[in-house]
Amino acid sequence: HAVTKQPPTPSPLRNSKFFQSNMRILITGGAGFIGSHLVDRLMENEKNEVIVADNFFTGSKDNLKKWIGHPRFELIRHDVTEPLLIEVDRIYHVACPASPIFYKYNPVKTIKTNVIGTLNMLGLAKRVGARILLTSTSEVYGDPLVHPQTEDYWGNVNPIGVRSCYDEGKRVAETLMFDYHRQHGIEIRIARIFNTYGPRMNIDDGRVVSNFIAQALRGESLTVQAPGTQTRSFCFVSDMVDGLMRLMEGDHTGPINIGNPGEFTMTELAETVKELVAPDVKILTVENTPDDPRQRKPA
Ligand code: NAD
Ligand code: UDP
Ligand code: UDP
Repeated sequence: HAVTKQPPTPSPLRNSKFFQSNMRILITGGAGFIGSHLVDRLMENEKNEVIVADNFFTGSKDNLKKWIGHPRFELIRHDVTEPLLIEVDRIYHVACPASPIFYKYNPVKTIKTNVIGTLNMLGLAKRVGARILLTSTSEVYGDPLVHPQTEDYWGNVNPIGVRSCYDEGKRVAETLMFDYHRQHGIEIRIARIFNTYGPRMNIDDGRVVSNFIAQALRGESLTVQAPGTQTRSFCFVSDMVDGLMRLMEGDHTGPINIGNPGEFTMTELAETVKELVAPDVKILTVENTPDDPRQRKPA
């Protein structure tokens, strides 16, 4: 159908002073780890009305229990691979399992979430003239050959590996964002999130920070996946949420890296957790999974 170069004109009512100061904000994946912290922060502003759409694959109502029943809050059980017809001013498109064990569990569903889910949210943004932010990932750099990673690096990604449903899925999601921006004038924001940790991480979702801490608390050995020299840079979740909100309300489309530049090897991380939580536990080297990036740090 017809290609429009201009953004859709917002209705006079939505453009009025009333709607400029009062925002209706959709957060897909808002029942998850990062999404629920974002909900907490957005709900602090009395002018915001917050709608969460989540299929509860990895998220839970528990993360949102303090808001359920609040007059400015609404929770919808919804899968983003299906169309969604609502009226909003902002869309934080966060929905997607983030832990390798969950995104590899049903890879076809993961890629549908990234591709069809993002397409639907862009269709929604286009229909109502909303600004949309995608939570992309440092995984778009794959096993990077440039270190640290700058946003203009195109990455080194295996298109047919076991992680591809996630990293290639996010790459297509970024492409869709820019195509809707160029073709339909949609206002977009893209955040490339680096490893994030904090309260409400799922205790058994397999991510390294939660794994090591849970293992140490149980008095079990810490499982460092070989070789242990691979690095990650970990950002605390409240800083991440700050970055996402600033990106949404700022003037830059991105893509922009959001993360903490402090870089650690997985062996160093295990030693730190051991020292702080349970000095008597052992550190074991175990087999790794394919395509594990060897280094990662935002620039
Ligand atoms: P999470 O698994 O805790 O949250 C994801 C949420 O999305 C869950 O509530 C889940 O139920 C929901 N969801 C998944 N598929 C859905 C679907 N088809 N329809 C509706 N809801 C769906 O993960 P998280 O750590 O909070 O990550 C949030 C976002 O940030 C993801 O997009 C992820 O790719 C990105 N990200 C996270 C990290 C990190 O370190 N946590 C790093 C890079 C990128
Ligand atoms: N869509 C949606 N909510 C809306 C508008 C669109 O979920 O409010 C979905 C729609 O079902 C479609 C996708 O977004 O699958 C892309 O919509 P767009 O209008 O850009 O494309 P088209 O429908 O013309 O293919
Ligand atoms: N890792 C580890 N032990 C674990 C879980 C993960 O050594 O019990 C390593 C993994 O090989 C990777 C790093 O920790 O190098 C980060 O893994 P995670 O799954 O947390 O995130 P991602 O690979 O998506 O960065």
